Amino acid sequence: MNLFDLHGKVAIVTGGNGGIGLGIARGLAQAGACVAIAGRNEEKTTAALASLGGDHLGLRVDVTDPEQVQRMVADTVDKFGGLDIMVANAGTNIRKAPDSYTLAEWQQIVDTNLTSTFTCSQVAYPFMVKRGGGKILTIGSMTSLLGFDLGSIYAATKGGVMQLTRSLASAWAKDNIQVNCILPGWIDTDLTRRARHNLTGLSDKVIDRTPMKRWGNPEDLAGAAVFLCSSASDFVTGTALPVDGGFSSSLF
Ligand code: NDP
Repeated sequence: MNLFDLHGKVAIVTGGNGGIGLGIARGLAQAGACVAIAGRNEEKTTAALASLGGDHLGLRVDVTDPEQVQRMVADTVDKFGGLDIMVANAGTNIRKAPDSYTLAEWQQIVDTNLTSTFTCSQVAYPFMVKRGGGKILTIGSMTSLLGFDLGSIYAATKGGVMQLTRSLASAWAKDNIQVNCILPGWIDTDLTRRARHNLTGLSDKVIDRTPMKRWGNPEDLAGAAVFLCSSASDFVTGTALPVDGGFSSSLF
């Protein structure tokens, strides 16, 4: 028996059309899962779907709209016959000093990062119960653990995602649903490319501060995601696993 085999499993990856989400979607697909990737940008979704090959699904979804989240899950279940894995990965950030945010910016970041993690999990839940169990994977950040002067709202949402993960894990253990969180370190994606461009010296600072002396790539997340979405992790729930080249365990 291959503990990491996902053949016969159906997964949704929000934000699976790029960056970390696509790295995770690739890992799940290679392990055998049927994967639905969901994002707003259809061009990105079409390209990502083509790169996956096989019989997968691309969905146009804004995860801040609960009706679209319901439709995303319904369309996936219609196509593949059920749902076993939800990866709530979609996320955003606006980097500024805390005193300069508007309430609309607060709302946008909270809706995208935290509220959508809740709605995706809540909508997936009854379908997982129907299958006799499931896996929910949430995406935190180093800011789930540490403060970030230019990302106060983001950090608040990522701390919330980690705590939500623990509570869902506790509530749904009885249903054989394991809920875990990955805490990525600094990963090279569209999200951080903008920061690297705008914040002088960031790239070198990250390399210096990371014991493994490099930025992470989206593919670095695939192994941890396959582990947390497969039967290899059936007695692991409510945990937050850093995938960070040692960043969170090192003072310098
Ligand atoms: P990207 O910007 O590359 O990807 C974000 C993805 O989320 C995109 O595919 C985007 O698709 C999707 N997305 C954003 N908003 C919405 C929305 N409202 N509805 C649907 N999809 C949405 O960033 P990353 O890959 O870096 O980020 C992925 C996750 O990892 C996020 O939760 C982020 O906070 C987290 N993370 C990233 C780190 C890093 O260093 N890169 C570090 C720690 C955590 P589309 O544009 O098509 O909507």
